Amino acid sequence: MSDPAGIYIHIPFCLSRCHYCNFATGGYQPELVRRYLSALEKEIERSASSSDRGNSMKSVDTVYFGGGTPTTLTIEQFSSLITLCRRYFELAPDFEMTSEANPGSISRDYLQDLRAIGVNRLSFGVQSFDDGELQMIGRTHTADEARAAIKAARAAGFDNVSLDLIAGLPEQKLETWRMNLAEAFTLAPDHLSVYLLELYQDAPLLHRIERGELRAIDDELTVEMYFMLMDEAEKEGYEHYEISNWARPGFASKHNLKYWTGAPYWAFGVSAAGYDGRSRWSNTRNIHEYLERIDRGCSPVADSVDLDYDDRQSENLFLRLRLKEGVNLREHRERFGVDVTDRYQAELSRLRYADLIEMVEDNLVISRKGKVLANEVFAAFV
Ligand code: SF4
Repeated sequence: MSDPAGIYIHIPFCLSRCHYCNFATGGYQPELVRRYLSALEKEIERSASSSDRGNSMKSVDTVYFGGGTPTTLTIEQFSSLITLCRRYFELAPDFEMTSEANPGSISRDYLQDLRAIGVNRLSFGVQSFDDGELQMIGRTHTADEARAAIKAARAAGFDNVSLDLIAGLPEQKLETWRMNLAEAFTLAPDHLSVYLLELYQDAPLLHRIERGELRAIDDELTVEMYFMLMDEAEKEGYEHYEISNWARPGFASKHNLKYWTGAPYWAFGVSAAGYDGRSRWSNTRNIHEYLERIDRGCSPVADSVDLDYDDRQSENLFLRLRLKEGVNLREHRERFGVDVTDRYQAELSRLRYADLIEMVEDNLVISRKGKVLANEVFAAFV
């Protein structure tokens, strides 16, 4: 019996575009939303009816609405998506159903309705508690609105609330970052995700840096911010269960854990990426192409790759290294027939010498220093 699958559904609409955003998202237009939801229905129905995946990934215990801003949907639209999931998949009784949410555009009534239709976890894109920073990165909400949204979510009955912050914003000071963390912990979220700012080529924020209007902060300061975060989160009782994620005991994201443990997950909608245990695939990033392909009865998949046995063992190493417990080398050997200490002898001794990895009993884990140089560690196993 395989592990229950997850479902990711991408909602590619936002009220405006943030200045660092590289997600597949666009402006909210009611007619486009209606067409998109109808296409999603067809994609879900066709995928679930495909004999291979449909059978092996029928049982599901997590659903994740990401974006974009899923909470741009009306409750009726949201509810019909959940009905679709229930129609085509067997949802476990203890399912986790998450929606990302934008703090500036959500009312207490909406939150109550969202809880009533089955969403039981919210992930708020707060990003900063400094209004100047929020304005600089093009967020449409204020810090006060973020605080109010999280309180409203609690009042609406959500007992699993996550918030996202971004570290390493242009001009950011260590003291502003300390304040951001203090504000976040004051709100006592169950889960915290922190991403280091990465700017893609066309990001307006990058252009402002290139024009000299804003100053990017240096890597040393970003590292200091990350270490401060690790220390403060630990003091507050959060478990650092994945490189970018912290949770109160029992509140690690069940859905996101699937990404790092090789569990299967469906992916529906523009740019959504899925995995069935053998292949990875991702849909087109272009909404018009997505709608057109679905209309023609074609698959919206733009890329797919079949992983061979060795790819899967390599993924098991570098994905699990993201997790606190790392890779259990005995289990890895039993599952893939690969003795990591033999096969990666040179890489391991280099990484150990550089103090980037360590052994904790039978587990290979990434060190405190390794967490800030994680890509260098993962590259050794790709
Ligand atoms: S809310 Fe998120 S998805 Fe939407 S524009 Fe901002 S960063 Fe991008």
